[in-house]
Amino acid sequence: MSACPTLRIALPVPLPQVFDYLPPAGSPAPRQEDVGRRLRVPFGPRELVGVVESIGLSEDPANLRPALQWLDDSAVLHGELNTSLRWLARYTHAPLGEVIATALPAPLRRGDALPDTHGWAWQLTEAGRSGYARLRSGTRPQRMATLLLDGAVNEDLLDEQLDDWRSAARALLKREHVQRIEVPAVIPQPRIVPGPQPNPQQQQAIDALQAADGFQPFLLDGVTGSGKTEVYLQAICHCLQQGKQALVLVPEIGLTPQTLHRFRSRLGIPVHALHSGLNDNERARVWAAASRGEARVIVGTRSAIFTPLPQAGLIVIDEEHDGSYKQQDGIRYHARDFALVRGKALNVPVVLGSATPSLESLHNARSGRYTHLRLQQRAGDAKPPGVRVFDVRKRPLQDGLSPEVLVGIEQHLKAGSQVLVFKNRRGYAPVLLCHDCGWTAPCKRCSTPLHKTPMTVHGGGRRLQCHHCGARQPVPLACPDCASLALQPQGIGTERLEERLLQLFPDYPVLRIDRSTTSRRDALEQTLATLGEQPGILVGTQILAKGHDLPKLTLVVVVGIDEGLFSADFRASEKLAQQLIQVAGRAGRAERPGEVWLQTHHPDNALLHTLVNGGYHAFADAELLQREAAGFPPFAHMALLRAEAKQVEQANEFLAALKQLIPQQSDVERFGPMPAPMPRRAGFQRTQLLLSAEQRRPLHAALDSVMAQAYGLPQARRVRWSLDVDPMDL
Ligand code: ADP
Ligand code: ZN
Ligand code: ZN
Repeated sequence: MSACPTLRIALPVPLPQVFDYLPPAGSPAPRQEDVGRRLRVPFGPRELVGVVESIGLSEDPANLRPALQWLDDSAVLHGELNTSLRWLARYTHAPLGEVIATALPAPLRRGDALPDTHGWAWQLTEAGRSGYARLRSGTRPQRMATLLLDGAVNEDLLDEQLDDWRSAARALLKREHVQRIEVPAVIPQPRIVPGPQPNPQQQQAIDALQAADGFQPFLLDGVTGSGKTEVYLQAICHCLQQGKQALVLVPEIGLTPQTLHRFRSRLGIPVHALHSGLNDNERARVWAAASRGEARVIVGTRSAIFTPLPQAGLIVIDEEHDGSYKQQDGIRYHARDFALVRGKALNVPVVLGSATPSLESLHNARSGRYTHLRLQQRAGDAKPPGVRVFDVRKRPLQDGLSPEVLVGIEQHLKAGSQVLVFKNRRGYAPVLLCHDCGWTAPCKRCSTPLHKTPMTVHGGGRRLQCHHCGARQPVPLACPDCASLALQPQGIGTERLEERLLQLFPDYPVLRIDRSTTSRRDALEQTLATLGEQPGILVGTQILAKGHDLPKLTLVVVVGIDEGLFSADFRASEKLAQQLIQVAGRAGRAERPGEVWLQTHHPDNALLHTLVNGGYHAFADAELLQREAAGFPPFAHMALLRAEAKQVEQANEFLAALKQLIPQQSDVERFGPMPAPMPRRAGFQRTQLLLSAEQRRPLHAALDSVMAQAYGLPQARRVRWSLDVDPMDL
């Protein structure tokens, strides 16, 4: 029997291969055009939705099962997106079927048809035409009927031409004078409204973006309020005028109604939003409208990076340093990095914008891989805030707040202002700290003169462990530097910040803003609206983003910065610096000057000094030197294998088996298995294995051999495990 063509199908299962099927009964032999079409297939006792990855050949077709049913007439995943998703599957070492399932909106993943994106229009009936003369002139129904005299009119157009036309339509509908009809979607034309005259630096950036011919990465590096969004808007206008589509990614918290309104009113075109507040069907409609070229401007959060762009012209990543661009479970992709891959495949410019660029992006800009555009002045006239550092060593702290700071908060409240008490993100493994002198235990093996790797507290507070190399030692009884007994894990006490502030300032509202209050869309908006302009305290772990204007905010107090300065996570100081600069950018935006107060046990810390006195770029220079000395990204490439099990031995044995799969001389350093920063969660023991290499290639080669065998290891059955390439949290 001769070889027979088959469908190679990617299925959403945690297995590294694609699967061969015969076409459904009665359909023609597989063709190249079938690549990217979905079908339903039998898989063991189940049915799954898969996507044709390629056309294969089988010597032994008798052993293959036929697929059940085609779900599309033509490919839903075509061209560039298909190619880019394959790249992503290779880069994350994840099954292609799972990557595709992540990229598709839920209804398409389940097998529903690509949704309709037609529009609606209204037209007069016969009765409406003959009855027109009897309508009282000047009334809304008469004005609506007048608009329809020349034929059907689209609802978008009615929106613009007659306010509250819907009530008129209802009245006319009752008399059967009008009817609503489906019309094919139209490709809208932008009606651009000019913005402010760009300043010279903005103009330079705008010119550079317009001159880009095909793929070119840009870093738009501009201080808060320097007019980066104006630059994006001009670049999008240019893109629309060329008849192309633009995709803009913003952080989860930045997609406010104000942001959308600003884009809509300036571009004069429907702007399609993609965010967590949409239901599955709404998402799928935007996806479909983009894939048909009907959606010209798409503004969305992380997963919007999977939007099909058949006529792409531009990709913008606003606040490119933001942590929300990294997916933290499932397929652990970074939307910014994937945007560059798509931009290259689509051959369009990619703009990364930030007031506090990630060190990766700065490094790329400085080494010439990205074109570096800078905006150094604020566009408005708000003054930059003053920064003060408070030494809290030996000070009596009230749930983390020093007496001086409490006095300051009271003064600002009495003056009618608002105060933000910002607690650095929780969840770092705690580092041992001497409250009297600020000493923290460094790992003797890993620390270099430029870079100290701190030991973290484990074993119920009795043991110290290094998160980089796994070294252990007992907790000392007294501080080796000052002999004080005031040794404690840092960050203790600040959990109760909100309660304490409520007690201390009973006459003022105290509102909490953190992940739980801001994850729901508009919840933050509502919280801020309840506060309004009255004096009060905002407290939380979440910083405010662009679009949250708080003109009465004059004092920002930052507690827990030491957790960022001395953390086992080498990225903690970068995140801290970004948060401080961003939070400072929110203070004193209007007529009142703002102040930022930092509480620390390390008033002499070099990085803190550099940041306070030299600003973000001076900090970034110093930090990049440290990263280079310590061999951390962007000067090395990392991957983290995580495992969790009921018994810690099970997790460790699995990771130890994976470690064995990488030859020792392979240019890949292997650290662990060691406890995760949060070693226990929901009854599971969590451990990790860190891999690091100077070059990407050997790291990925090592991961290839690990992943080829990991699924089949006997130890894998007792653990839940995952691989994170370029992990953001170590
Ligand atoms: P960023 O995105 O860098 O935070 P924006 O683009 O939002 O900055 O600009 C901050 C404020 O300054 C906005 O209110 C914007 O309308 C205004 N603005 C920006 N560029 C100019 C300009 N060239 N002239 C006057 N106002 C400007
Ligand atoms: Zn001490
Ligand atoms: Zn170490």
